[in-house]
Amino acid sequence: MKIAFDNSYAALPAQMFTPQLPTPVAAPAIFARNDALAAVLGIDLHAPDAAQIFAGNHIPAGASPIATVYAGHQFGHWNPQLGDGRAILLGEVVGSDGIRRDIQLKGAGPTPYSRSGDGRAWLGPVMREYLVSEAMAALGVPTTRALAAVTTGEDVYRETRLPGAIITRVAQSHIRVGTFQFFAARKDVDALRALTDHVIARHYPQADGPAALLDAVIARSARLIARWMGLGFIHGVMNTDNVSIAGETIDYGPCAFVDDFAHGAVFSAIDQQGRYAYGNQPQIGAWNMAQFATALIPLMADRDRAVQDFTAAVQGFAPIYAHAWLQVFAAKLGIADPTPEDAALVTDLLNLMAQDGADFTATFAALSDGQARDQFIDHDAFDVWATRWRARQSPQAAEIMAGANPRVIARNHQVEAAIAAGVSGDFAPFDALLAAVTQPYTDNAAFSRPPSRDERVTRTFCGT
Ligand code: AMP
Ligand code: MG
Repeated sequence: MKIAFDNSYAALPAQMFTPQLPTPVAAPAIFARNDALAAVLGIDLHAPDAAQIFAGNHIPAGASPIATVYAGHQFGHWNPQLGDGRAILLGEVVGSDGIRRDIQLKGAGPTPYSRSGDGRAWLGPVMREYLVSEAMAALGVPTTRALAAVTTGEDVYRETRLPGAIITRVAQSHIRVGTFQFFAARKDVDALRALTDHVIARHYPQADGPAALLDAVIARSARLIARWMGLGFIHGVMNTDNVSIAGETIDYGPCAFVDDFAHGAVFSAIDQQGRYAYGNQPQIGAWNMAQFATALIPLMADRDRAVQDFTAAVQGFAPIYAHAWLQVFAAKLGIADPTPEDAALVTDLLNLMAQDGADFTATFAALSDGQARDQFIDHDAFDVWATRWRARQSPQAAEIMAGANPRVIARNHQVEAAIAAGVSGDFAPFDALLAAVTQPYTDNAAFSRPPSRDERVTRTFCGT
């Protein structure tokens, strides 16, 4: 197989990464191929050596495999060195659309940044990332993508013995807030500057320096989180090492879409304080941007001035988010030109949904269909709200709502069922769920239905 690599990160200063080959695996077998994405990248996933390449057994010509270093705040606690502990960047490809993308193998074996980890992934998180990232892409949310997934023919050991797997992740880049933090904390201004120049050239060519870069990253992050909120998406582990500088959703660990709505919904088993609960995501997004701003300060000649300016920039997160949030939810309600007063209409609906435990996705789909009353226990309260709502709907409401309210999301119980089948060697449920979640606006009897009480899966695991 030929891949037209064009690697730029591997040409940056040497302290920013370590050359690292994947560790070969016993018996690779591809179980998922993203042919549409592969076509953009000029890659043939049906080539005879595809399984070997996407398992890391065979290194294609032009690749320069590296593990990148970064730091991060994990659940608010500073960790001065993380890095790609189980991910290896093969290189970059400029697609037929002109966009440069990283091609990374996740689960490809140990690196100098593995700490006590084995460098591997088990099948469950690989399937979850594949399904949820492709669902997000189909919903139009900026996200890393899944190009391919293989089983390795090897076991990995977590609490128990599990089948190993590797996902090929594609991203506009894997540079994180934590990448900047790593060099800022070490006062390595040369690397920090090289990284900043690289990110500006690669992702924000209109930015003329760190201050403009900060503004641009804040704007993208705020808009991204507003999109998550509009889908009931809970990232689950918004550590600064899991915040993409390119503004893509990255690191689908314990993520989930909420079923019965609650502002404080948390799925991640390790998030005991609810730091990354649904309703906290915008505040955490701003907090993460404050960490990014802090990491850029060493680049500035007048640091006192920069602290003032960057503080103001971070304070800009909230209004950008609020505006994007209102746009997102107004579309879900069929309101073409929302006014600030419409925010209360949205909030009142969400509060009613939370009070009655209404299913997030099904309720908005039912609003599109004019049948939402049944989603609520308190019919009178819904009727009062609906009267206010109808007065605000635009003539094109049906059309606007059809494109804003998905019928199918990657529901947690369906993801878990697909994983359970995959572990026993049956990928048919995975294929069926993937087909459904990548056509999210098409009703699908099997996958649109919310879980019954017994079917609900309310916990997710990082699964590292
Ligand atoms: P995550 O929670 O997936 O964002 O990972 C946090 C950090 O732990 C990153 O530096 C990962 O590379 C590292 N890590 C997670 N799982 C493993 C593993 N199985 N082996 C080595 N490093 C890992
Ligand atoms: Mg991570």
